[in-house]
Amino acid sequence: MSKQQFQTEVSQLLQLIVHSLYSHPEIFLRELISNSSDALDKLRHLTLTDDAIKALVGSGIASPRIDLTLDEAAKTLTIADTGIGMNQEDLVSHLGTIARSGTKNFLAQLSGDAKKDSNLIGQFGVGFYSVFMVADKVDVFSRKAGESQTWKWTSDGKTGFELEEATGADALATSGTTVLIHLNDEGAQYANNWRLQEIVKKYSNHIAFPIFLTYDKSNYNADTKETEKSRVTEQVNAASAMWQRSKSELSDDDYKEFYKSITGDWEDPLFWFHTRAEGTLEYTTLFYIPARAPMDLYQADYKGGIKLYVKRVFIMDDSRELLPQYLRFVRGVIDSEDLPLNVSREILQQNKVLTSIKTASVKKILSELKRIAETDKPKYEQFIDQYNRPLKEGLYGDYANRETLLDLVRFKSTRVPGLTSLAEAKERMKPEQKALYYITGGAENILRTSPLLEIYKKKDIEVLILDDDIDEIVFSSVEKYGDIDLKAVNKSNAGEDLKDDTTPEQAAEKAEELKPLLEKIKATLGDAVKEVRASTRLADSPSVIVSDEDEPSARMRHMMRSMGQQDIPEPTPTLEINPTHEIIIKLLANADEARIADAAWLLFDQALLLEGVPLKDPATFVQRLNRVLNQSI
Ligand code: ADP
Ligand code: MG
Repeated sequence: MSKQQFQTEVSQLLQLIVHSLYSHPEIFLRELISNSSDALDKLRHLTLTDDAIKALVGSGIASPRIDLTLDEAAKTLTIADTGIGMNQEDLVSHLGTIARSGTKNFLAQLSGDAKKDSNLIGQFGVGFYSVFMVADKVDVFSRKAGESQTWKWTSDGKTGFELEEATGADALATSGTTVLIHLNDEGAQYANNWRLQEIVKKYSNHIAFPIFLTYDKSNYNADTKETEKSRVTEQVNAASAMWQRSKSELSDDDYKEFYKSITGDWEDPLFWFHTRAEGTLEYTTLFYIPARAPMDLYQADYKGGIKLYVKRVFIMDDSRELLPQYLRFVRGVIDSEDLPLNVSREILQQNKVLTSIKTASVKKILSELKRIAETDKPKYEQFIDQYNRPLKEGLYGDYANRETLLDLVRFKSTRVPGLTSLAEAKERMKPEQKALYYITGGAENILRTSPLLEIYKKKDIEVLILDDDIDEIVFSSVEKYGDIDLKAVNKSNAGEDLKDDTTPEQAAEKAEELKPLLEKIKATLGDAVKEVRASTRLADSPSVIVSDEDEPSARMRHMMRSMGQQDIPEPTPTLEINPTHEIIIKLLANADEARIADAAWLLFDQALLLEGVPLKDPATFVQRLNRVLNQSI
């Protein structure tokens, strides 16, 4: 026998489960049943694809089922399945460590405040370890399909576990897993067959496999006038593939229960879309949108949640093949009548049937979302609150659905509180406005106070505030909304159409007057700027920097570099000067070379600071500032 320590993260998780999940201990049963159901799914798939495993059906493999056995006197409950089972290494890695970085990340976010943390963990799904809410000790007996040894894993859920080979009566006759729970005081309430039946019906009614309960049933004997107990085994769940039933037969509660049983989420889903397609292709889809985006949605190892079935037989649950990456938050089921049962992952990737199901499913999901956006605004706001960002990822990748996605995403704006759609912003356009404008490249407060917005403010034109870190990348590839141009205000040619009403002659005269000053500033700044020119987009600020049409902004490059990218080309920005600003007017009247030099750098550095870019040489900046201050006092 070997005694092993839990990985630190497992101990942390166990601590948390035991101390902050008192409110819902019953979910342990749902978690164990869902693990059994997954194990049965996996084995069923193997018996279709793996000849060695197929040959074992009937001898090393029993028919699929889940058995709950209650021993009230001994205060034990077992959950046994005839699924794929685990061998020695599986037991160590699956029940002794936490491999997913999402879980680790989750643990890192914990605040230590039990109430907050239990809300967090509710969205997260605790899995197997939840059994320690109701157990003093747990024995797991498991035999992997295709192997002959049974292993026994034992733990009190505190520091570690023991692992040894199980022999004699403990050895399993066929592949599968038996979890033997020694109920603790908290768990004693589950040593009751009514309670167990109620919980199974509540959470696991639509699990595709039969769940049996064996217990001592009390019968009243009319002859002896006594209550007698007899050992019985009864099926508890409906065991139907619920998505195959027609919508009219299903209640909202049926949908919610099934959702919870496949996701482990405690909250009801926001909405669901259940579709049956008949015609050239026959398939059923049932998609759910979780109320909250999973916490590990942006982790590389995020495990999505679409399960693919073929004629009700589970095939796989790799969502990358089943829906595009940006819809990875959607959970649910696709069940096809047309795919071969023994289809492999490689074949699936280029399978025409699956491709058309995928295309139709994306269209369906997006059009349903659009319908909700139009008919149920508050509900849609809840959705956007969680999923605006993945939709933006879709704008970047899913060209075919770009128009619909543009209608679905929402933006902050200089005009309205909260969020707005492009359609609404288009409605609000001024007659003389030629494009929809947006600003990217920083946090909301930096964007909202940017000098670049001054001309728009002055002309009362709306600008969308795109402060999400992926906005600049995404929207640089989106040029139009319908027939309207989308333009970034920090690009050098934006706002050309908004020039003030000076005549060409006036403008030429003004330019002639400014030229010497602009040349002096350029000479001072040298290679730090590409060009120094007069601005038409400023009202209150003396200067601003702008980037070329196809270059990442200064702020963007700073971000890329801070994320470890070293080889970012450094395009030199263009400095724009506000010819109507008092400082500039005074500079025009002043020939003092030294003062102009200080002013040139200060105008440039302040424009950088306002863009959120840290200065390369803050010390020199401060010296200059003090020199100028000193002169003015
Ligand atoms: P999850 O189900 O989200 O992966 P769990 O903590 O519930 O997380 O289970 C961890 C892992 O342990 C599972 O992924 C599976 O590999 C394994 N496991 C748990 N229960 C069983 C079972 N009854 N049969 C086979 N494997 C199981
Ligand atoms: Mg699980």
